[in-house]
Amino acid sequence: MVASPSVVQNYNVKMNGVDKADQTRTEYPTYRMCKRWWTYIFYFLLDLSIANSFILMKESPNHNLKTNTGKNKVRSLLSFRMNLAKQLTGNFRGSRKRKRLSNIDPQEVEHWPCENDKRGRCKQCFSNKVRKDVKIKCSGCDVFLCLSCFREFHKK
Ligand SMILES: [Zn+2]
Ligand SMILES: [Zn+2]
Repeated sequence: MVASPSVVQNYNVKMNGVDKADQTRTEYPTYRMCKRWWTYIFYFLLDLSIANSFILMKESPNHNLKTNTGKNKVRSLLSFRMNLAKQLTGNFRGSRKRKRLSNIDPQEVEHWPCENDKRGRCKQCFSNKVRKDVKIKCSGCDVFLCLSCFREFHKK
């Protein structure tokens, strides 16, 4: 397998990390040790699989090694990881953004034909110069509409 110097370097850094972890592990009681053990295995495997896919990408003729910025620079493991993180998180934004999204968007109001107590003039028929009294109102627009006009009215 062809390993780039940066991958080898990265692997060595990780191995040092694990060695240090082995030394410090004895200072923790058993339950702490278990917790840490899981975390280490998880991150170790994650790092390993990222490094492996990076090597595969370098080996693959279908991937260009240029960075996204278009500069003639070979993609490093760091920029590979950054890119991967961006792709995995996608459009996800913090909770602040999500709160704002939950505010009612006028385009996302639901429009259902609901029966009203009193009759009213169908707005669509009215604009077509026809007088038609109906009991059906749109729940979203709060406007009287006959069923045959309901769809046409919401097309615009
Ligand atoms: Zn109508
Ligand atoms: Zn409506």
